[in-house]
Amino acid sequence: MGKVILVTGGTGLVGRAIEYTVKNEPVGSRFGTWSQDDQWVYLSSKEGDLRDLKETMAIFDKYKPTHVIHLAALVGGLFKNMKYKLTFLRDNCLINDNVMWAAKEHNVEKVISCLSTCVFPDKVTYPIDESAVHLGPPHSSNFGYAHGKRLVDVYNHAYHEEFGCNFTSAIPTNIFGPYDNYDLEDSHVIPGLVHKCLLAKKNGTPFTVSGSGTPLRQFIYSRDLAKLFIWQLKEYPEIDPIILSVGEKDEITIKQVAESIVKAVGFEGEVSWDSSKADGQYKKTASNEKLMKYLPDFQFTPFDVALKESVDWFVENYDSARTGLKK
Ligand code: NAP
Ligand code: GDP
Repeated sequence: MGKVILVTGGTGLVGRAIEYTVKNEPVGSRFGTWSQDDQWVYLSSKEGDLRDLKETMAIFDKYKPTHVIHLAALVGGLFKNMKYKLTFLRDNCLINDNVMWAAKEHNVEKVISCLSTCVFPDKVTYPIDESAVHLGPPHSSNFGYAHGKRLVDVYNHAYHEEFGCNFTSAIPTNIFGPYDNYDLEDSHVIPGLVHKCLLAKKNGTPFTVSGSGTPLRQFIYSRDLAKLFIWQLKEYPEIDPIILSVGEKDEITIKQVAESIVKAVGFEGEVSWDSSKADGQYKKTASNEKLMKYLPDFQFTPFDVALKESVDWFVENYDSARTGLKK
């Protein structure tokens, strides 16, 4: 009998990339599914609200998963995190508590939950590695989300020690790609700026970027991340988290991001900076040394190639993409 892999948050940026990867990687290969008989289930919130235990248990009763990639979360960029700190904390705690409890009650063989480099302490030694998750308060701009996500690692160890569960977590850096949330206000920096730049090109207006442009970020393409999730599900043996990221040398400034977007979009107008908007955390440079020890030959898609693919996808799918606009 094949395995049943339940992907919570299966309709989001990362969930769609996992779906793409499962379809495109050869069955039985390192980044592909185990066998032809496996069933991958990509959950949407339409199937049930994971903040509700009864609805969560009903989903697990229906699909009887053997494996879970747990991506579902309340997600947003800097500005949304600053506005809704309690909601980020509470919704994510409820979702994580329910999914892990349901997985334990249904004897799921392995769960990978998705954290974020936002969980790391604000005052920390760089580069950050996996051992730093609980070493100090997170940045104030997203403490609700960060504490909610940190608790997943606490749960994973507690489930392992009390019930022997094989629950682990992944810590990706900033992610981008097709099916991202391209909302103009409540999105992450790349999809937000791609949308703004396309509108500036269409309307002949300046392309306005928030903040000073100096903060540094590491960006991972959702389709690279999807391969790493499948590898982690099949091969990673630890309960402790693993950072899924490009290397430290691939860290770039927001100004470089804006310049690459201008190039990918083919925008020729004026770029302006709104310095009244927040910069958020200056940097959260993460080490991918642990990942590289496990997968020394992993090839990341070059940033400009991945960005162009994302822009092209957004242009082609503008009418159905998540933009926050009434269409
Ligand atoms: P996304 O595109 O916003 O998708 C979120 C997914 O979660 C959607 O499928 C959504 O379902 C589902 N969801 C949200 N609330 C739910 C609820 N109450 N019940 C059931 N499903 C719910 O998010 P993403 O960017 O793919 O993020 C995936 C994971 O990566 C998250 O855990 C996030 O914290 C983490 N992460 C993201 C980034 C990033 O830059 N995007 C960086 C680091 C870590 P519907 O769409 O059907 O409503
Ligand atoms: P973060 O990595 O959690 O801070 O999340 P973001 O993806 O929201 O990145 C935020 C960084 O990009 C901050 O330095 C912002 O000032 C900068 N930025 C510039 N323009 C935008 C924008 O249009 N949207 C967002 N979300 N951030 C922007």
